[in-house]
Amino acid sequence: MEIRAIATAFDRMADALSQEDAERIRAENALLAAKQTLEQRVQDRTSELQEAVAVAFERNALLETRRHDLIALNEMSDLLQSCQTLDEACIVLDRAMPALFGMGTGGAYLFRESSNLLERVAQWGGDLPISFMPDDCWSLRLGRTYSSSPSDTRPHCSHFPSETMNATHCVPLLAQGKTLGALVFLWDESVPSPDLDSRLKLVQAAADRISLALANIKLRQSLRDLSIRDALTGLYNRRFVEETFEREMARIARSQEPFSLMMMDVDHFKRFNDTFGHDAGDMVLRSVGELLRDYFRSTDMPCRFGGEEFLVMLPGTSLVNAQERAEDLRKAVKSLTVLHQGRPVGQITISIGLAAYPSHIANRFTLIEAADKALYQAKALGRDRVVLASEETEAPEEPRTA
Ligand code: GH3
Ligand code: MG
Ligand code: MG
Repeated sequence: MEIRAIATAFDRMADALSQEDAERIRAENALLAAKQTLEQRVQDRTSELQEAVAVAFERNALLETRRHDLIALNEMSDLLQSCQTLDEACIVLDRAMPALFGMGTGGAYLFRESSNLLERVAQWGGDLPISFMPDDCWSLRLGRTYSSSPSDTRPHCSHFPSETMNATHCVPLLAQGKTLGALVFLWDESVPSPDLDSRLKLVQAAADRISLALANIKLRQSLRDLSIRDALTGLYNRRFVEETFEREMARIARSQEPFSLMMMDVDHFKRFNDTFGHDAGDMVLRSVGELLRDYFRSTDMPCRFGGEEFLVMLPGTSLVNAQERAEDLRKAVKSLTVLHQGRPVGQITISIGLAAYPSHIANRFTLIEAADKALYQAKALGRDRVVLASEETEAPEEPRTA
């Protein structure tokens, strides 16, 4: 009896033990599973964190690039705003644009009305044409930004090489409805989109600022032109002579280059006014002015000195050459035909007084006075002739200007 009781108790104990074992194994398994889940979660969190850090780094790098771009853009527009001439602006663009848009190939072009061409003033990356016609660029035809890529159906502008496998992007430089130029780009199509977005924004910001600066320079130049140009003939006026003569005299004192000066006056000009009216007189002046403008080389300075009197400064021209030019000019004026209301106004002649430094006028400040005296001699001798200033012109005590 006792033994049975002991056996039963033993069995119970054995059952309890195996139940405990099973319980323990279950608990251990549960623990292992929990541990694995936890480890997986930690791993997931870690890689999420790593991804977030990488994104933050990328964003930071992009922000840093944008900050640099903005600084470079501001520097360029500050410099452009301080430029007084288009030539100065071209130098700024040539330096600043490659730094700003180093990636890919690109160029900045300015429109020259005189030649109806867009001329390259800056380029970076590869080679682009020196100039192109406005019609070669879709952005100029459309008056807005134009892009194309080999993967779409739009044609690319013909100023780019025909075989290009790059994306193209052209932005017109416009201000007050006028075309001032264009920025053109050739880009690799595989640029990631956030970079492309910020690049496009940078291009537009640069184009806006360049356009504004160029428009300001043009406005300033045309205001200056108004003050130094004669409205009737478009030649420089007396004010320009006053500003320039003394500066030229200081320059030739340093360089010791020759300098010639012609003073000329239309003969019996009053007759044109009296016979045909003031309008006809103005037409004669315009025609003579046009001839003077075309006749002299770009470094010479033909000016309307007043009324029907013209003065031409010829830096670097010797007396012998100036005398030849004056004779030819006199003949050219004589063969001008000016029509007023369909009728020729008659032959126009001019008298010219010529003085040159240092060939026969020792003091450069007497040039205008000497040429003027020679002109009056030409008139007295019967007009329609060139007279050289006399050599023994006295030098005044003080420098004299126009
Ligand atoms: P000379 O051969 O001695 O130079 O004779 P001239 O008739 O040319 O000279 P004068 O100085 O007697 O006359 C110049 C005239 O030019 C007088 C003036 O009314 C006229 N004149 C001056 N400026 C203008 C202008 O802008 N337009 C017109 N139509 N006439 C002008
Ligand atoms: Mg006259
Ligand atoms: Mg006169």
